[in-house]
Amino acid sequence: MNIPEVIVIAGKRFDVVFDTPCCIKEKVYGRAEYDQCRIVLANPEDSGYHRSLIEETFIHECLHIINSIMSYDDKENVVHGTAELLYQVFQQILADGTPLIKFVEADV
Ligand SMILES: [Zn+2]
Repeated sequence: MNIPEVIVIAGKRFDVVFDTPCCIKEKVYGRAEYDQCRIVLANPEDSGYHRSLIEETFIHECLHIINSIMSYDDKENVVHGTAELLYQVFQQILADGTPLIKFVEADV
C-alpha cells in the first residue's frame, strides 16, 4: 500500500508528512492534526517501525479524521480495531496487484 502525500477526506485536504523524531518523542506511530490539516507519521525508513505498522497507522489516523468530521464517537479502541481490520481488507484487495481505485471503480 502506498501512503499518499495528500489525502482528501470529505472534501478537506490533509497533507501526510513523515516526522519520526516527533513521533518518537510523543511515543506514537502517528497522529492526526486536525487544525493543521495534516497527518504525521513515523517514517519506516528511519524509525525502525515495520512499513505495515505505519500503513495501518495511516488508516487509523484517517479514521480519527472521519470520526471528527462526522461527529462520531472517537473511541481509541474502536479506531484501533477498525483500522487493523480495514488494513487487512485493503491488503486482500491489493494482493493481486489491483490498484484500490480500480477495485472501487469496477462496479460503477
Ligand atoms: Zn488513535
